[in-house]
Amino acid sequence: MSKFNHRIFADEDPSNVHVPLKTGLEYAVSAIRYLDRENENADEKFAILHLYAAIEVLLKVRLIQEHWTLVIADSRNASLAKYHAGDFKSVGAEEAVRRLNDICKLGLPGYRNSPLKRAEEMRNRQQHFGLNESPIAIRAVSIPAYNYLIQFIEEHLSPGSYQYERELIDAALSEIRDRLPHLSDLIEQRYRQVEPELGSSPNPVIRCTRCQMMALEVLSTGGRCSVCLGQWSNTQELAEEYALEVRGHNIPADRCPTCRSISLVANVEMKSHPGGPWFCFTCTDTWRHIVLSRCCRCGHLASGCTAGICPSCVEEFVQG
Ligand SMILES: [Zn+2]
Ligand SMILES: [Zn+2]
Ligand SMILES: [Zn+2]
Repeated sequence: MSKFNHRIFADEDPSNVHVPLKTGLEYAVSAIRYLDRENENADEKFAILHLYAAIEVLLKVRLIQEHWTLVIADSRNASLAKYHAGDFKSVGAEEAVRRLNDICKLGLPGYRNSPLKRAEEMRNRQQHFGLNESPIAIRAVSIPAYNYLIQFIEEHLSPGSYQYERELIDAALSEIRDRLPHLSDLIEQRYRQVEPELGSSPNPVIRCTRCQMMALEVLSTGGRCSVCLGQWSNTQELAEEYALEVRGHNIPADRCPTCRSISLVANVEMKSHPGGPWFCFTCTDTWRHIVLSRCCRCGHLASGCTAGICPSCVEEFVQG
């Protein structure tokens, strides 16, 4: 007996999960074939559409493993007959992640800053506006989305699957893993072109959260990546995205003791700018000569703490 024994008709008719699982995996494989230039039918414009379809379907498969009603957008209208007939409005990816975290307790990274969200934005631009994204930008968005998907499938889909479902999963993941390295060739080519110019940039250059190349210039207005052409229109947004990428698990950026914006991130690797233990994306201070510690009263980072309490908390005490 599967531990997911509340799947409907789990023993008689396991196809209620089998069908969407197979479809989701097919989309994921189809997208990576479109992205692999070693494949003669490569064609980027379909890739992101199929990749995002894979994401949506596979997130829902995990919800169905938990209980079929969880994929229905408004469960007040849930009916098993309608579910079997496919006559229902299902949740989108963002709501699926919320339910997987809040109901199934999977502890997935939040959707808003995830590679899934960036894939969704690109899918929308392409599907609704017919915009042509650059082949590099499409790959820069796809690679982290695939890494997310592979981890999700291995940790959260595979364990609750039947043996024959696991065989489908293993075949799909093995093809995706074989092809994934071919996606970075264009990105590396472009990096070699822009590298000399980045080396002499007066701005701090850090690793891009999207294409993973050392090509993201931090500007007073946000940031710009010379490889994937990613743009950020404010420094706090960039700091938040970087913090999640580096520190993971929804740990946000800290408040900078100098400029007070929520832009301070630890261990930011720099291309040539002298780095330090912390980097503020807004005032670009790196704290090379001053030790910061976390105040045990307010929780913010500060220099000159006394008995674990920061100077401004001490001052509040004195005045209070
Ligand atoms: Zn980039
Ligand atoms: Zn600052
Ligand atoms: Zn404090």
